[in-house]
Amino acid sequence: MLQKGHIGVTTDNIFPIIKKFLYSDHEIFLREIVSNAVDATQKLKTLADVGEYKEELGNLAVRVSIDKEAKTLTVSDRGIGMTAEEMDKYINQIALSSANDFLDKYKENANAIIGHFGLGFYSTFMVSKMVEIVTKSYREDAPAVKWSCDGTPEYTMEAVEKADRGTDIILHIDDENLEFLENGKIEALLKKYCKFLPIPVVFGKKQEWKDGKYVDTDEDNVINDVNPLWKEKPAGLTDENYLKFYRELYPMTMDEPLFWIHLNVDYPFNLTGILYFPKIKNSLDLQRNRIQLYSNQVFVTDSVEGIVPEFLTLLHGVIDSPDIPLNVSRSYLQSDNNVKKISNHITKKVADKLEELFKKERTQFEEKWDSLKLFVEYGMLSEEKFYERAHKFALVKNIDNKCFTLEEYKTLVESNQTDKHGNVIYLYTTNKEEQYAHIDTAKEKGYDVLLMDGQLDAHFMGMLEQKLEKTRFVRVDSDTIEHIIEKEDAVAVELTDKQKESLTEIVKADLPTMEKIEFHVDFKALGETAKPIQVTQNEFSRRMKEMSAMQQGMAFYGEMPDMYQTILNVDHPLVKELIAETDGKEKDELAIFATTSTKLKQMVDLALLANGMLKGEALSNFVKRSFEMI
Ligand code: ADP
Repeated sequence: MLQKGHIGVTTDNIFPIIKKFLYSDHEIFLREIVSNAVDATQKLKTLADVGEYKEELGNLAVRVSIDKEAKTLTVSDRGIGMTAEEMDKYINQIALSSANDFLDKYKENANAIIGHFGLGFYSTFMVSKMVEIVTKSYREDAPAVKWSCDGTPEYTMEAVEKADRGTDIILHIDDENLEFLENGKIEALLKKYCKFLPIPVVFGKKQEWKDGKYVDTDEDNVINDVNPLWKEKPAGLTDENYLKFYRELYPMTMDEPLFWIHLNVDYPFNLTGILYFPKIKNSLDLQRNRIQLYSNQVFVTDSVEGIVPEFLTLLHGVIDSPDIPLNVSRSYLQSDNNVKKISNHITKKVADKLEELFKKERTQFEEKWDSLKLFVEYGMLSEEKFYERAHKFALVKNIDNKCFTLEEYKTLVESNQTDKHGNVIYLYTTNKEEQYAHIDTAKEKGYDVLLMDGQLDAHFMGMLEQKLEKTRFVRVDSDTIEHIIEKEDAVAVELTDKQKESLTEIVKADLPTMEKIEFHVDFKALGETAKPIQVTQNEFSRRMKEMSAMQQGMAFYGEMPDMYQTILNVDHPLVKELIAETDGKEKDELAIFATTSTKLKQMVDLALLANGMLKGEALSNFVKRSFEMI
């Protein structure tokens, strides 16, 4: 025996800590030992490059194998190996300063503990009752060493025979973790964590279908793509390369990405990666968690929240940076300076790309707008920096499918749609079919109407109203058009209170009762040619309700009834008739009038019909009554 000793930790025994706290994430042991093997191999390649290692490098693959009988999992490399002294230094001396404090703080996060203490190798004890290291340094005449430890702080080191340079890590898997002896499990984990490691990782042989079953071929089953696309120079790459890589990353996704950005920075931080813009139509949440984060080609996580601004989590692709401190908690990440710089850089690049497309290929940009809109609006709503860039290329679309930038749209409508208070009124619809009658009235006045039917449009309009001066968004059906864009003082309505009461009474009597819907009756003098009766919905309360559906803490608005106004145009001959017919009538007479006047019923129903609000029995009655009238 070469040596027998006590692993140098300052807490009494590190193993209970490893087993207890690292339990939830224990599969990452495989990532740790395979990436150690890859590091050791790359170091050897570097030594060979600079002429310090002169022997044949040979096949440098890292091999992972399972022995079910012996219950071992082995990771072997042909890298630099370790001398006995190096083992002592790198494996036996674990610095565990202020361990207890730290453990208390990061109980939940195995990654944090492992990274903080450089416990990569020791994470193997999460799944092993004994671990052996058999290693031989690349240095000439260095004897091979075998280290072994059974999960107590005692280890042994002895001289062994080993033909080849490099390291074998042999895990004797404990009884609670036998799943790590399953081929399927290990292959899946290797594909998850090691898919793009820079040295080939081999797990068994490729199989082929022969005589009714799968049999091994002679060919190594290489898990990884050692030259992932993001590491290559963008100049030499074609669209097909990028699309192929996208399919490699997301084999289950049918849609092709709209376009992509190749990130390639080496100063002041190191960042490579490819970000893809997916087609986003609806439902923000479903789209998340598609960006994969790597550190030197080692997979770290696919949940990048807190690392990049939230709206960017809608993108797909890969970010690789050794400068993101990966093995720390998310709250720490958010305050890290490198992370902030990287985040800002990505935000800027995304804005650059969109702006470039907008400037150079406006037609294409407009064609893709429907799939981009949610992403851009989300970015503008959540990141001030992105707003500053994006307000130049964010588009709005009118009901004739024409696209405008915010600036262009203002120029278009400013002269005709400014009200007497100097506010520019942007008219919009959320549903072309249902609000057609109101759109029509607006168009008769020569006004333009925007289509705002997106998931974030209510929020987006709210934000623009705050950012743009003297600008209001108003849905076409929220009032009479004369009132939405008030050009001159409204003409006074010359009715007595009694007349108003009577009209209100009869109209209300004929309005259907609907759940959570309230009607008010209002009077306006709109001229003889404007509609006699219209139903409108107040902009403010409607928008609050819409926003409450998307935002927590606004449930109060969601519970409120929908408020509608039934507006009578007192200048219209039909309304004048109603005024004359109800004038001076008592309550019971009014009730009889309401049940018998086909004209009144017809007017009320038509107003509802124009809003798509005449339904069920009321609609059926209307149809019958109309036939009778013919
Ligand atoms: P880290 O990799 O974060 O330094 P580890 O506990 O995983 O921490 O490894 C400690 C050290 O042991 C490594 O830095 C390296 O020097 C050495 N080591 C681990 N695995 C190997 C290996 N397969 N070949 C050569 N050296 C290794």
